[in-house]
Amino acid sequence: MKPFVLDHADSPDAALAALDAGATAIAGGTNLVDLMKLELATPEKLVSIRRTGLDEISADGDGLMIGALVSNADCAAHRRVREGWPLLAKAILAGASPQLRNRATTGGNLCQRTRCGYFYDSTQACNKREPGSGCAAREGFNRIHAVLGTSDQCIATYPGDMAVAMLALDAVVMTEGPYGPRRIPLAMFHRMPGDEPSRDNVLEAGELITAVRLPAPTGGVQVYRKVRDRASYAFALVSVAVDLAMEEGRIARCALAFGSLGTVPWRDRAVENVLIGEKPTPALFAQAAEVLLKDAQGFGENDFKIPLAARALAATLHEATQTGKA
Ligand SMILES: Cc1cc2nc3c(=O)[nH]c(=O)nc-3n(C[C@H](O)[C@H](O)[C@H](O)COP(=O)(O)OP(=O)(O)OC[C@H]3O[C@@H](n4cnc5c(N)ncnc54)[C@H](O)[C@@H]3O)c2cc1C
Ligand code: SF4
Repeated sequence: MKPFVLDHADSPDAALAALDAGATAIAGGTNLVDLMKLELATPEKLVSIRRTGLDEISADGDGLMIGALVSNADCAAHRRVREGWPLLAKAILAGASPQLRNRATTGGNLCQRTRCGYFYDSTQACNKREPGSGCAAREGFNRIHAVLGTSDQCIATYPGDMAVAMLALDAVVMTEGPYGPRRIPLAMFHRMPGDEPSRDNVLEAGELITAVRLPAPTGGVQVYRKVRDRASYAFALVSVAVDLAMEEGRIARCALAFGSLGTVPWRDRAVENVLIGEKPTPALFAQAAEVLLKDAQGFGENDFKIPLAARALAATLHEATQTGKA
């Protein structure tokens, strides 16, 4: 690991000043320290933002404001989260391990980097790590890679769970930065690789996530299904988050998001529109999957994700619509 200077900011303003002076923010450190050990990230200055006071969960009108430094464990255990937005608690608890969730934070989770093995191996070509060097995954070991939203330059997924639930819940990322505060809908936060895969999200230099805002609870049935190689402590192969409501045997409202399927947490309103107003049947679920996956492209080892996503969607919708009926 390269030597670095570590400072502690005791307020958001102090953190912003440090970022402005070129420091990199460190929150739980569960991703950044790994990257530093591999010298994939080599910041000379780090500013710890753990003492900035951004670790509160508070009501915000009908909604909820989750501070950027709230740990994943605290967020999932919070009574208001469990009561009003259980999808979020379920998704967080499906991720990582208890030790990691105690340390990992809301802001850090959103900014976690891909799990593509070539990204972590500096002997391999990787446009995300070294722009212009190529993409070893396209012709290589790509079992965990994306089938939606890929580009010639990069096919890596955003691997997290929390953001998938937040996307289905219409969350908004609150930031402060050199150009003032911003409210970034989660749907706009992560970037598809395009021809600039090194940028995972739309944060500008010096910008700090201060909180994530959830709008009012919907009162819907909320299910998070994570398909993975092991039952715990594994990233998703495909995950599905749904928040829906049934009325008179039909799907009255439906929000759906998918993880580890696309290069970003994936939401497609056309899929929701197929379902809304209809009676839940296997044929309807298959039609929704067809719309979701019409542009999906496998790269060999990850071809299985396409039928897997269709089955995971059907199983999730079956569970949610049966629960909603009761
Ligand atoms: C073995 C292992 C298994 C895991 N499994 C899962 C899983 O199944 N599902 C899942 O979702 N996640 C999983 N994770 C990811 C883990 O949840 C992330 O590492 C964690 O959420 C990152 O949060 P952090 O606070 O530690 O971020 P850090 O490591 O401190 O920071 C990560 C990045 O975010 C930036 N950052 C942090 N906070 C802010 C902020 N407020 N504003 C702007 N930038 C900021 C940092 O500069 C850095 O670039 C796993 C991690 C490991 C190591
Ligand atoms: S998929 Fe993306 S992260 Fe993986 S090797 Fe290719 S460019 Fe790098």
